[in-house]
Amino acid sequence: MYDIFFQQTFYLTLITITSFCIISGFILSYASIKLKVEVISAVEQIDNLLPQTQCGQCSYSGCKPYAQAIVEGDVINKCPPGGQTTINSLANLLGIEAVNLDMSYGIPKERKTVAFIREDECIGCTKCIQACPVDAILGAAKQMHTVIEKECTGCDLCIDPCPVDCIDILTLEESLLDWSWDQPLSIKSADIAKKRFEYQKERRNNEADQKKLLQIASSNFESKDDKFVQAESIIQEAIKQAAEKKSSPEVGYARFLRQVARSKDQLLNANKKLKKLKKLEFSSNDDKYKQAIAAVEDARIRLAAIESSNPRKTKPTDRSEKNEETQKKNKTGV
Ligand code: SF4
Ligand code: SF4
Ligand code: SF4
Repeated sequence: MYDIFFQQTFYLTLITITSFCIISGFILSYASIKLKVEVISAVEQIDNLLPQTQCGQCSYSGCKPYAQAIVEGDVINKCPPGGQTTINSLANLLGIEAVNLDMSYGIPKERKTVAFIREDECIGCTKCIQACPVDAILGAAKQMHTVIEKECTGCDLCIDPCPVDCIDILTLEESLLDWSWDQPLSIKSADIAKKRFEYQKERRNNEADQKKLLQIASSNFESKDDKFVQAESIIQEAIKQAAEKKSSPEVGYARFLRQVARSKDQLLNANKKLKKLKKLEFSSNDDKYKQAIAAVEDARIRLAAIESSNPRKTKPTDRSEKNEETQKKNKTGV
């Protein structure tokens, strides 16, 4: 009965079967890597359709949190940078009806914008770096800062924190290289912005962990390092001086002029878009046309509000009021 183990054919069969199993194993593992079907979650799919400006206008801290909120039942029309194109794509993906953009969250920009730091006015306080969601600003404490143009998503988040108001938002001219038909403005750089946003989130989490560890370690010392205290007081002094400078009438007026220019630019763009639609003979009942009219109206209201806050607007003085009264009296002969 055990003679079979001593026959050559037995060993040949065994070797053949073993080799077949090993080769099949290799082929299957290679195929499982190469032909792997990526399972993308619903949040990822929605996030991929958002423009990745990371501006927070939707009331969430970035595009991914908004994507998460949509999955949990929030509406799809809160993203001004994405505009109607993004709403339509989201509606298509989710199999629901496309609605109009909710303009209370902001007006879509006609062109791509980027931040520009007037470097000679920068005091190096790093507040803009902390506000930038995609790490598009370079600089260190007490040193001039600058914006990496191709990384900037034009989200405007660095404008308000700047204590000396030395950041401008510039509108970029469209070129053949970045022209696209009816797509959100930043769609081409969306992938980069998404990666930078995620990388920054991870980095900030790590920094927070390290800070905690340092705090625990330094709690054993009674006083802070002298150099640290000195550096801290220099920055505080610079911020104080900047705040004083910012509240001066000249700086206030310069800021007012920049806001007016920015607002006029927005009105101009909104009007251009409306004219384009008129040329293309869009019906006044068309959603796009209605949106363009609403955008012009919003931009006009915003401009009027800014212009009315002119810090150099001369209020009627007592004398001019008296003159008016005398003129009235002369006219009526009383
Ligand atoms: S681009 Fe801005 S408004 Fe749109 S989803 Fe992203 S963070 Fe929200
Ligand atoms: S530089 Fe300013 S505008 Fe540009 S992405 Fe950063 S925060 Fe936004
Ligand atoms: S917030 Fe303004 S002053 Fe401070 S570093 Fe940035 S650009 Fe310079």
